[in-house]
Amino acid sequence: MHSIATKPINGTSSRLRVELFGELVFSREPMRRYLSESALEGIERWEKRGERISRELADEIANALRQWAQERGATHFTHWFHPLTGLTAEKHEHLYDVIHGKVLSALNGDELIQQEPDASSFPSGGLRSTFEARGYTAWDPSSPPFIYGKTLCVPSVYVSYDGHALDYKTPLLRSIEALNRALLDVVKLFYRDVHRVYPTLGVEQEFFLIPQSLFKKRPDLMLTGRTLIGAPSPRGQQMEDHYFGSIPEAVLAFYEELELEAWRLGIPLKTRHNEVAPAQYECAPVFEELNVAIDHNQLLMDLLKRTARRHGMECLLHEKPFAGINGSGKHNNWSLSTDTGINLLSPGKNPKENLRFFTFLAIVLRAVYKHADLLRATIATPGNEHRLGGNEAPPAILSVFLGGEVTAAVEALEKVPELPSLAERQPFSLLPTLPPVLRDNTDRNRTAPFAFTGNKFEFRAVGASAHCAPAMISLNAAVAEAGQDFLHLYQSYTAQGSPKNAAILLAIRDFLRESRPIRFDGNNYDAAWHEEAARRGLSTTFHLPHMLKTYHSPATKSLFRKLDILSETELHARYEVRIERYVKALGIELHTLLDMLRSYLIPAAIRYQQELVNLVGSPALQTLAQAYAPEVLPQQKLLESLQHHLSALWEGITTAEAIWQKVRQIGSVEEQAEIVHDEVGPIMRTLRYHADEIEKILPAALYPFPRYAELLFEIA
Ligand code: ADP
Ligand code: MG
Repeated sequence: MHSIATKPINGTSSRLRVELFGELVFSREPMRRYLSESALEGIERWEKRGERISRELADEIANALRQWAQERGATHFTHWFHPLTGLTAEKHEHLYDVIHGKVLSALNGDELIQQEPDASSFPSGGLRSTFEARGYTAWDPSSPPFIYGKTLCVPSVYVSYDGHALDYKTPLLRSIEALNRALLDVVKLFYRDVHRVYPTLGVEQEFFLIPQSLFKKRPDLMLTGRTLIGAPSPRGQQMEDHYFGSIPEAVLAFYEELELEAWRLGIPLKTRHNEVAPAQYECAPVFEELNVAIDHNQLLMDLLKRTARRHGMECLLHEKPFAGINGSGKHNNWSLSTDTGINLLSPGKNPKENLRFFTFLAIVLRAVYKHADLLRATIATPGNEHRLGGNEAPPAILSVFLGGEVTAAVEALEKVPELPSLAERQPFSLLPTLPPVLRDNTDRNRTAPFAFTGNKFEFRAVGASAHCAPAMISLNAAVAEAGQDFLHLYQSYTAQGSPKNAAILLAIRDFLRESRPIRFDGNNYDAAWHEEAARRGLSTTFHLPHMLKTYHSPATKSLFRKLDILSETELHARYEVRIERYVKALGIELHTLLDMLRSYLIPAAIRYQQELVNLVGSPALQTLAQAYAPEVLPQQKLLESLQHHLSALWEGITTAEAIWQKVRQIGSVEEQAEIVHDEVGPIMRTLRYHADEIEKILPAALYPFPRYAELLFEIA
């Protein structure tokens, strides 16, 4: 998209900000102003009862939308959709038509409802060959249209000519609907007045900011998003002083503009802070309905990049831009809400609410336990391959942290199906002069990949650059299935004569027992946990091609098929896209690395080598060599060391070329992925080792790229 048309916001008062919230969104308020009573009623019928939006109504909405957007400076219209690239896509149409030489404003209901981008160049996983290029985008009325730059964007789904989902939004919407269908009957055990259950999501987004001038001197960052070589900076994150530290001026200015733009787009950004690694930051909006939250996260990632550039910085969303310091993730805070405003994962104040709480807790635990490998597959991305499992991010083993108090309650319930009580949050006093502090009923455990945090679950293994949908579709689906199974279990207990609450408790107990292996409150970084997890039958290694195979497992296929979320064909296509993109991503990384070595680093090293050779052969050094033994001369040592790493580098390059040759000659993408995993990754690490050793030897002025210390500490 083109640049955002807004002015910088220095000096904008907070009063103005509040008024600006959502001003670029066609939400309730503009709808009331631009639409007739009957149109509003039609929309309400669609929202409340799922009644279809008629063509006439669509025409009226289209007309209102166009007028509203043009009054705010929009010139173009697009369906804004989520192809399987993980990014969003758009194809702009002018909001004006020229008919018989006359310029007319135009946007009718048909155009609003459906568009046909020539879609042959999006990844489809074999669902569509290039000669069958037709694909349709269709309006998703559950996420409001917005103006981005000068373009009116209408959130849309994207399907092929024969109706297969080619995007993330279609299965996401299906999973939200499946969740509603499955959980409504369970909710009705507790509340009769609930008509809808929906997932909520709040995404914490981590990222790095570095000077743009330096970014442009690093082909690896530009082409792959991460540094492929680079010796560590003497100072990294050892001092633990960046996290929550004072935000640098330049970054504050960036944040201010980001927040204002986000607010205007209706993205409720709320928190901002420095993250653990130098140059690393985080921001998070207040949670929203899941579909809208994901649209907003996609938009936010774009906004982060654009805003950073306007401030002379580059925003890195990669999961591991720098070796040796923390990478970036995207914590997906997920919960379940009713249309009556109850958070189903919030512990209650009375026994009825607590019974409801333990019911949904048990359902989620059973879901995560049964589909742990699928959830792992959804976050198995090339970037996460470098991030997960290190001593920083959640490890590759999926387990759930509940915290001491909830764990104790769950363990009691597992033994005796009686409702345990949960203590109220207890205040404790620090000093008589200070107000009392309330203690939460869960502590934090930063090492857990899936954590219960008081009234929601937090899936932390999602990568910072990732689209949230794959993880959220699978979580929704798994929970929907567990909800159905819970109800069946409950019904079987009542059929055997158990009274209602007793039957619920028995069903909870069964789910807790079944899912016990997934619960772990200890230190997930501990080596002993790996062994323990393996004993429990949990998957422990991050082997991307193998993890993706879960897309083909009977449990996964049956899950998506029975809930009408993805057909087997659609599921297989997703697998194909993922595995193909893995091979492509590593191919790009390998060739970028080879290019950096051949065209920059090796020529620089040879220049230095020549200097050293000249020095060693010079009369002055000869004299020195006669005075001392020649082998103790540092010049000689440097030369030998440089020579050693240069030869090793050259040998590595030859090996890497041969490996890629082999990859290219193999027909099946699955076998390619195996070689990429087993050979490309390791040879890149070898090349990096020698390149970084050369960096340590070269005079700073000769090293052809900005170094880690500059990249990480220039903005402070
Ligand atoms: P932390 O994870 O550090 O406890 P917060 O309490 O600020 O941080 O929560 C992080 C994110 O979780 C925010 O986006 C917040 O809005 C979101 N969140 C809070 N409650 C819910 C909920 N019921 N459903 C989904 N997300 C939630
Ligand atoms: Mg968090």
